[in-house]
Amino acid sequence: MIDSEFHGFGSGPGKVDWLRPGSLVEAARMAGEPGSAIVAGGCEIARGLRFGGVKFARLIALSDVDDVDRLVAHPKTGLSIGPLVRLDAIANHLWIAKRWAALHEAVEQVLPPQIRHTATVIGNLCCGRPDYDLMPALMALGAAARAVSPSGDDIRCNLDELYDGSGKFMLPRGTIVREIFVRPPSPDAGSAFRKIMVTDTPLSAAAYVGLNADASSIEQATLVLGGCLPAPVHISVAESSLRGAPARTASYEQAGRLAADGLRTSGVRLANLELWVRLAAVLARDTLEQAASRARSKHNPFDDAQSML
Ligand SMILES: Cc1cc2nc3c(=O)[nH]c(=O)nc-3n(C[C@H](O)[C@H](O)[C@H](O)COP(=O)(O)OP(=O)(O)OC[C@H]3O[C@@H](n4cnc5c(N)ncnc54)[C@H](O)[C@@H]3O)c2cc1C
Repeated sequence: MIDSEFHGFGSGPGKVDWLRPGSLVEAARMAGEPGSAIVAGGCEIARGLRFGGVKFARLIALSDVDDVDRLVAHPKTGLSIGPLVRLDAIANHLWIAKRWAALHEAVEQVLPPQIRHTATVIGNLCCGRPDYDLMPALMALGAAARAVSPSGDDIRCNLDELYDGSGKFMLPRGTIVREIFVRPPSPDAGSAFRKIMVTDTPLSAAAYVGLNADASSIEQATLVLGGCLPAPVHISVAESSLRGAPARTASYEQAGRLAADGLRTSGVRLANLELWVRLAAVLARDTLEQAASRARSKHNPFDDAQSML
């Protein structure tokens, strides 16, 4: 344990114990204690201490735990992201840009760019801000999370389950997310993420589109809207309308209209709602078209694996 005086944040000097456990199970046990928090990149923790009047008795660093910065992006086994994988590592990874483009594009939207040197993927997902950029992208890609509870239990869930519809973080206090996993990309599929900002309010769309063998129709599709909603949501009615539909602009336009209706009826409070609704239609359509155009340039996981050697 490193005992330190903690000065210069918000409400003046305070005593904070810095703990450096040697394993994630030990870290989760410590994080379960009241007044404790895990620190990954520290961006959100520092912001809370400085501007949010948040106080902690104990901060738990994961830097002494083996393999926490492990990032594997393999065309056959999938994408595995550990607790201290920073956004830069995603931004600079050629194969993530090619095969998990929605995640890569979401990371590129995190601004200013300096934040990406420090911020971690899992910190972005776990900081209680479902309006941030990475959740919609990883939800559209069908990502799953693996976590360890303070009592040492192994928890597995889909990323969709991290927040409820009102934006409440659903993992029990002290639980540490140890891995985000995304399946290997299918040879006939592509993904995309786009975001627009109106003043300070974001609206984002993330999509995954899988086409049939001759790229004439859509076999599977996910469409997630995020940003200004309380939590990112799958637009299930649009996803169902796309399944089996011709792989043409008209299908993406129809899905865009359904996404717009979803935003209109979501109960979200936005000034000038009709403007947002129109933006949602265009954003959803364009994101789906981009994902589909990536799906058309098929790839072969075997060739990918060979060229990574
Ligand atoms: C100036 C600024 C601009 C930003 N701009 C954007 C933007 O444009 N788009 C965007 O999406 N985000 C933006 N962010 C948010 C930023 O991406 C997040 O603050 C960052 O990703 C959080 O990651 P971190 O590693 O710093 O988390 P930390 O601050 O270390 O932790 C954040 C929270 O997650 C918890 N936590 C961390 N790791 C784990 C784990 N493994 N298991 C369970 N809980 C954990 C911590 O206890 C804490 O509650 C911005 C932040 C700042 C400060």
